[in-house]
Amino acid sequence: MVSVSRRQFLKLSAAGLSASSLAILGFSPNQVLAEVRQYKLARATETRNTCPYCSVGCGILMYSLGDKAKNSPAEIIHIEGDPDHPVNRGTLCPKGAGLLDFVHSPNRLKYPEYRAPGSDKFVRISWDDAFGKIARLMKNDRDKNFIAKNADGATVNRWLSTGFLAASASSNETGYLTHKVVRSLGLLAFDNQARV
Ligand code: SF4
Repeated sequence: MVSVSRRQFLKLSAAGLSASSLAILGFSPNQVLAEVRQYKLARATETRNTCPYCSVGCGILMYSLGDKAKNSPAEIIHIEGDPDHPVNRGTLCPKGAGLLDFVHSPNRLKYPEYRAPGSDKFVRISWDDAFGKIARLMKNDRDKNFIAKNADGATVNRWLSTGFLAASASSNETGYLTHKVVRSLGLLAFDNQARV
């Protein structure tokens, strides 16, 4: 058995710590890193998604545990860049690298909420109720404020009293459909969350 003094032990610990820190930064032998990752994620379900933060639209891999039974919801335990994604090739900026905290934040809004006129609190409502309310309010406002012709009698079909905020990380197809809906309603104020 090898005897190690306290000083030697601290030196060894420091060396091990710096080695593992370097591993985190990507300087470790790939094979070792791959083995550690495989061990950690062996039982996890891998799901592809897109980082929701900005219009770069980096691809991510989300790993969750849970057998998907009704009383056992899956929990996301790890998120990393998708090495097969053509935009980011596995990399993530600091915001994307912190996505796990975003997912598990106690302040994250997970369902629609409504605050009635005069009320001081929000209450949870269903998605159907939320869609119904939004459609009703949009229709009322458009009926009231739509401008079909300008002062010279030229057709303009503008709706200037409502704006629309979309998601910058949507797919091309979703972006195309969103654009078609918004512009066909006559909305001019149209942007996405990456520029807010
Ligand atoms: S990881 Fe960073 S650069 Fe990529 S989409 Fe998210 S916020 Fe944008």
